[in-house]
Amino acid sequence: MFAQVIVDISHTEVDKVFEYRIPVDFQARLGSRVLVPFGKKLIEGIITKITNTCEYSEEKIKEIAKVLEDTPVLTEETLELADFICKTCFVTKALALRLFLPSEMRKGKVKEQFTIYYKLVDGLDVEKTLESLNKNAVKQKELIVYLAKNERQTSVILNEEFGNSAVNGALKKGLLQVEKVKKLRAPYQELKRKDKVINLTESQKNAIESVIQTDKIATLIFGVTGSGKTEIYLDLIDKTIKQGKTAIMLVPEISLTPQMLSQLRKRFGETAAILHSGLSAGERFDEWWRIRSGEAKIVIGARSAIFAPVENLGLIVIDEEHDGSYQSESSPRYSTIEVATFRAKKNGAKLVLGSATPGVDSYLKAKNGEYNLVTLKERINKKPLPDVETVDMRKEVRAGNVSPFSRSLKYELTECLKKGNQAIIFLNQRGYSRSVICTECGHVQKCSSCDVSLTYHKEDNSLLCHYCGAKYKMIEACTECGSTRLRYGGTGTERVVSELSQLFPNARILRMDRDTTQTKEGHFKILNEFSEKKADILVGTQMVAKGHDFPSVTVVGILDADMSLHFSDYRSGERTFQLLTQVAGRSGRDEQAGKVILQTYSPDNPILLRAINYDYEGFFEHEISIRKATAFPPFSNILRVLISASEEQTVVDGTKKVYQDLKEVYEENRDKFFFFGCMKAPIKKLQGKYRYQILMRVETGNNHLIDKIYLEAEKYNSRNLPVFVEKNPNNLS
Ligand code: ADP
Ligand code: ZN
Ligand code: ZN
Repeated sequence: MFAQVIVDISHTEVDKVFEYRIPVDFQARLGSRVLVPFGKKLIEGIITKITNTCEYSEEKIKEIAKVLEDTPVLTEETLELADFICKTCFVTKALALRLFLPSEMRKGKVKEQFTIYYKLVDGLDVEKTLESLNKNAVKQKELIVYLAKNERQTSVILNEEFGNSAVNGALKKGLLQVEKVKKLRAPYQELKRKDKVINLTESQKNAIESVIQTDKIATLIFGVTGSGKTEIYLDLIDKTIKQGKTAIMLVPEISLTPQMLSQLRKRFGETAAILHSGLSAGERFDEWWRIRSGEAKIVIGARSAIFAPVENLGLIVIDEEHDGSYQSESSPRYSTIEVATFRAKKNGAKLVLGSATPGVDSYLKAKNGEYNLVTLKERINKKPLPDVETVDMRKEVRAGNVSPFSRSLKYELTECLKKGNQAIIFLNQRGYSRSVICTECGHVQKCSSCDVSLTYHKEDNSLLCHYCGAKYKMIEACTECGSTRLRYGGTGTERVVSELSQLFPNARILRMDRDTTQTKEGHFKILNEFSEKKADILVGTQMVAKGHDFPSVTVVGILDADMSLHFSDYRSGERTFQLLTQVAGRSGRDEQAGKVILQTYSPDNPILLRAINYDYEGFFEHEISIRKATAFPPFSNILRVLISASEEQTVVDGTKKVYQDLKEVYEENRDKFFFFGCMKAPIKKLQGKYRYQILMRVETGNNHLIDKIYLEAEKYNSRNLPVFVEKNPNNLS
């Protein structure tokens, strides 16, 4: 027998299958991970096909050196999915296959851990053995007596109790046998299991029925914040498990997984597994195997968990389906919904997309009948959505209030704290100030490798580049003119916390942003503390906006609602609407009514006005008509070819070449293009590399044309001149 193997080298030149002979006594199967000779080394690979004959010469063909695990790591379905990823994301097979394995498993960095137990050998006559032992072997006798009573004990404890020599002696005499038991590194063991008996409402029941009855693969559940979508998911998962099938549930942020896991564990115990990049290597490895072996049947995770090694998939839930995190921003740049649709189709499974603010493309699909649509217009128990008060910050400034907090917000916070309730303050900027500006010459401190301003982080007195991570010492004087009159531009979360603690000296304040969540389970600790009411105010970036359910939160302050409106992205309106609705939705989720204070410099902006009134339909109609008129997605596909290099001349020359080839494609298909142009990228320099881009907008449904653009552009991709093609990227900076 022969095996076709993809070796784990992501290089276009080795992007093909290599054939090997399977030694007769090897348990090599489709999807098995193997070690194969490659050049002079042994390299890991995956079997993608098993054949009776080989195309390569039978004399010269090499043999598989080792099968790494008894169980194949990939299945027929996941192998097909890997193929799909290659084709749609234009990556090598090796790179696509890596999505399916915890990275630590490759290169054998993590292995299974075992606990070693000793017990008496089966059928040992204890009396006789004790008689036969030497009189002086006191400890050994005690050991035998102990094990006769206790059945088994770990080697560690036995060695401690009876001494190494007694244990080893007994082992040598063949009195003991070894039992290896797999040790699980299980994450979030300290998770509290919420207990709350819930009777589904009529609308929840109808939603569930609709998902089950529809003959469409995907159902979009469009339900306002607090409409009880989570209970719908849980019930659907329950039904799926009862049919003997498995389920994957995705949430947009790692920080949301513990909350969900706690609910899943409560209902399904250990059949729920968690998979995300925030786990320790060992935990991820063990959880992965629990899923692969079929022991765990429900997987909860962020984006990458869509590649979980489940078999017999019955349900995929994507909560907050509109969230940008579902689009992978590094290669392979897959769309999670596309991958989920593929897996659902292959398995005959249901796909459930849930959101209070569906992506306009998803909602359009639902309206066009491609998705089944379920709408939940009210919160559980008809609780009203929180009242939103808009504050015009220009008026605050005119009234002499230059603090980050409007008078209304201060008032609401005071009242909220008095009543012992909790508040959330949202601001999409971490650090102390967004920039440091010289008031003499106007110079803004910038990163030396990127064309972006540096953010001041007071806690470690440094200037940080949020794009490349570079850290500089905080300056005392302007680097251009030497003046010490520096000004902080734009407020960040650190500064908000410091000003809040001056305003409310007795309030306990937590901050949640990228800086405070670096440690393992960092998110979890902060959210846990807040949900146990060990803090009064939670200040944070978009991390606090999503999905959390804190019953005591009655005030939400949105400090700079306009911030994301100004991004040069066709989706900035959509993102702003979603973000504002989501943040607002954290307020008043339980008995007490909620309030939202939205601070803005453009109170008449139509997006804000619709967000304030929770008018999704209005927003959608407005947005979709603009997209249609201007031929932006979903009415076209944006393709961006990003070219970068450390020398500006190299990029300019490289870009010219790519441009010329693409221009030909464009000329031949002019009627299919809405736009074709070449320019500097909005961020001209990043991580020491100059960046140029070729932007195109192509009529939808021209996949062959898109393939062609990819092929033409990627031809030039090399180490010195990376050329990346992205389709509808999240980020056009
Ligand atoms: P969503 O995900 O739609 O924002 P959740 O699923 O978090 O909403 O539900 C909001 C709150 O309502 C939660 O605290 C949840 O426990 C509660 N809830 C959900 N369904 C019911 C129900 N049928 N009866 C009572 N409370 C419910
Ligand atoms: Zn200066
Ligand atoms: Zn930088």
